[in-house]
Amino acid sequence: MTMPVIYTDVDGTLLDHDTYDPGPARDLLQGLMARGVPVIPCTSKTRAEMLPICEDLGIPGPFIVENGTAVWIPENWGLARPPVTGSDRGYWCHVLGKSRGYISGALAGLSGEWANRFHSLCDMSLRQVCAVTGLNEVQARAARARHHSETLLWLGSASDREGFTEAVSQLGMTVVQGGRFLHVLAGGGKGEGMAWLHALITEQMYPGAISVAAGDADNDLVLLEAADHALVVRSPAHEPPRPERANNTYLSDAMGPAGWVEGMQVIIEQLDREGGYGGFLSERHHYHTAQSG
Ligand SMILES: [Mg+2]
Repeated sequence: MTMPVIYTDVDGTLLDHDTYDPGPARDLLQGLMARGVPVIPCTSKTRAEMLPICEDLGIPGPFIVENGTAVWIPENWGLARPPVTGSDRGYWCHVLGKSRGYISGALAGLSGEWANRFHSLCDMSLRQVCAVTGLNEVQARAARARHHSETLLWLGSASDREGFTEAVSQLGMTVVQGGRFLHVLAGGGKGEGMAWLHALITEQMYPGAISVAAGDADNDLVLLEAADHALVVRSPAHEPPRPERANNTYLSDAMGPAGWVEGMQVIIEQLDREGGYGGFLSERHHYHTAQSG
């Protein structure tokens, strides 16, 4: 048996873009996890945001936060904690990107023409964050708890944004477009975060594990390109990202969590047909029947 491991974006993919509700994804998610398939969130959200979300969704394993700049792994999940790594509330952390302080300092050094074209999420009042995101105050505070990336509300035009992206890349940093915000990283990325974690999982837990990535926005492209199977989920807010790959790539018809369920079922069925994951199809069929009944 070859284990699939699912690396999934959260906002707009596993959770609805506007309501942050998992809707129909909750049942399939729990069905997958009940059968031992790891589902690993890979998100621009922070650790403080992901802890309650993982608890609500019953996700017991690792998660990749702040656009792939840090990976948090439960100590009891099955991966060995490197001896020099500290732990916090039962998790250990692998950091791939430089600090937010480094990034915001570098952005402050950009020429003045950019200064009034973006607003850092971490500089907004809680009320402003709530207005922009639709989050409540507790969630908004957690969204501001960023350590390895900077999140910007873009106020300029789309062509300005290209110039800004270029200026930032000359500083050795990367701009990625999420569903709502621009994110600036100095090292790491969703693709790198997944690659690092997947290497550990195949080495220590599931030899030959198949990676399945799901995402709805341009900041998911590196994730979608790097995985064995890619699920592009349609969004009500923007065009779907366009990976260059064509093989093992599925674009959903449905949007958000409904699209996640649609595509994930197709991919898991394909893996089962190929003999990669014996026994899943019948379980899935049972799940489908139970759901439609
Ligand atoms: Mg998203």
